[in-house]
Amino acid sequence: MKRVVFAGNSRVTVDDVAVPEPGPGDVLVRVGASAICGSEMKSYHSPSAWPGNTGHEIVGEVAADAAGTPWRAGDRVAVNIITGCGECMACRGGDRRFCAQQGYVFNGHGEYVAVPAINLMPLPDDLPYDEGVLLGGDTLGVAYHALSRVQLRPRDTVAVVGCGPVGLGFVRLLAFYGVRTIVVELGPYRRDLAQRLGAEITIDPGAGDALAAIREATGGRGVDVGIDASGSDPGVNLALDAVRDEGQFIFAGAGHKATINPWSQFLEKELTAYGVWYFVDRDYFGLLDLYRQGLTVRDLITHRFALDDAEAAYLTFAHGESGKVIFEANGK
Ligand SMILES: [Zn+2]
Ligand SMILES: [Zn+2]
Repeated sequence: MKRVVFAGNSRVTVDDVAVPEPGPGDVLVRVGASAICGSEMKSYHSPSAWPGNTGHEIVGEVAADAAGTPWRAGDRVAVNIITGCGECMACRGGDRRFCAQQGYVFNGHGEYVAVPAINLMPLPDDLPYDEGVLLGGDTLGVAYHALSRVQLRPRDTVAVVGCGPVGLGFVRLLAFYGVRTIVVELGPYRRDLAQRLGAEITIDPGAGDALAAIREATGGRGVDVGIDASGSDPGVNLALDAVRDEGQFIFAGAGHKATINPWSQFLEKELTAYGVWYFVDRDYFGLLDLYRQGLTVRDLITHRFALDDAEAAYLTFAHGESGKVIFEANGK
């Protein structure tokens, strides 16, 4: 079968590998769609070849009855990629994110993937794979999880700094919630896309004082909730500075260090901050409910590729002129 593999120095290959042999308690999934995530970029750009780690937003169907599990051939599934020991308090509480033996399901950009049964979530039969991979992955999962933790009122104003896929996921959900959204994003393509997804105001931080623009748009007060989805030092600081007194903040940009000021950004403003790390199964079920109520997600997808065109898919994503880039592994 085909599988996308990182070859080092921003190159990928499509290798011919054996169909994975499911271990005890594992289920073989025939991949329907998988999406490229920003968190793959570090491995993609790394100078060394990287045998695993491609593809962790995955939907598909169970390929064969899996003995000792409830899953049967043909069941449609989405994958929550976080694995755990299955025994500790975190795992037994249904939240493997805090298991000391946490691991991940990888290699989703292929025709088949073997997944522990506990990591499968049911995908409704009428939900197309392209929409399912957004509802079951971290693009919307992180945003939904984060927005479930803050207190939001209708017509609150929220600033989203950074509009990679996770930032765009926030924008789409906030628009559906009826929350006024200000986006700060360097790339014109993604500013445009954010606007189409429901952002009311888009700001180019390269074109002037973004903080002043946010203050102007909020009557000088600042936003009710600031969200960093950039993971960059200036992005985190801008998002923190943009929050009003007694406002709330979400750290959603992964992967980098930033120097922030506890005094002016937290203490003096009595700011409440939340870190978010991935999502849990109940967030997926919450997103399915929103989908039934009219949440549209397909317009987050800007590019679709077959596995054979993986090189082009990664170039497109890395270039930044895209929303979600997905693979349709088995031809649909
Ligand atoms: Zn991801
Ligand atoms: Zn555990």
